[in-house]
Amino acid sequence: MGQDIRVEAGTKVDLKDYDPDFTGKFKNEEDTLDELNKLKDRLFDLQRLMYADNRYSLLIVIQAMDAGGKDGLIRSVMSIFNPQGCTVVPFKVPSEEERDHDYLWRIHKSLPRKGEICIFNRSHYEDVLVVRVHNLVPREVWKARYSQINDFERYLAENNVVIRKFYLHISKKEQEERMMKRLLDPKKNWKFSTGDLKERDHWDEYMEAYEDALSKCSTKEAPWYIVPSDKKWYRNLSVARVLVETLEALPMKWPEPVAEVKEIARRAQATGRLPEIK
Ligand code: ADP
Repeated sequence: MGQDIRVEAGTKVDLKDYDPDFTGKFKNEEDTLDELNKLKDRLFDLQRLMYADNRYSLLIVIQAMDAGGKDGLIRSVMSIFNPQGCTVVPFKVPSEEERDHDYLWRIHKSLPRKGEICIFNRSHYEDVLVVRVHNLVPREVWKARYSQINDFERYLAENNVVIRKFYLHISKKEQEERMMKRLLDPKKNWKFSTGDLKERDHWDEYMEAYEDALSKCSTKEAPWYIVPSDKKWYRNLSVARVLVETLEALPMKWPEPVAEVKEIARRAQATGRLPEIK
């Protein structure tokens, strides 16, 4: 099907090996619509099954450089799922209360309930990305976090939180084009911040920090996916594919109806009418 986007545990990632403009056999968005629509229908059903089964929850982690397409991807995923049972949690600069706790505190309390889906717009990975690039804590502090994060995610996976992590991979050139568009479009320029331009100056350091996070924290239980994201439509398709594959692999089942319901259904079928309950 094309470029393998799942980072197998133990892989040393060099982002230069991953083409952000990859689109497989597809030339344009139109080509993807058949497959995408089938995936969307399937995901909608799988979400219902997950809710009824009520044993697993799904955590979708999204990370990207500025203008990397997090918001667009979230819109696309949210258009698939029933919003009842799917939430989005953005993680910003930690508040005073959050800073007064360990860095995983705000993460843990935002996790999805059983049967539900939660999308993290940024995540605990900021604590080994922005925090590392800007030296917000000493080196030995952020260095210890990779194994802490792996332990935390393994614990969650063992408790039926299914974790899938997506890094939306765009080229520096694509980022520039998107930022230019933001700057010139009155419907988008409110999103533009001079901080984004400053962060762009740290591009190479961010790439290094991402490579380390992707290499050290892609595990069997909580794998990272490097999603080619220069083309938004291919990004959306790639993520939908992973989500279907993930949910289909879970041993979920529809709960058995209670015996009474079975008897009522049997009588309804026999008479073609709902039976009277005395
Ligand atoms: P977004 O860019 O996600 O749409 P914002 O423009 O509000 O939203 O940016 C959120 C900011 O919060 C980003 O600059 C991000 O690096 C920062 N941030 C998130 N988590 C942390 C953290 N743990 N420590 C420091 N900064 C963080």
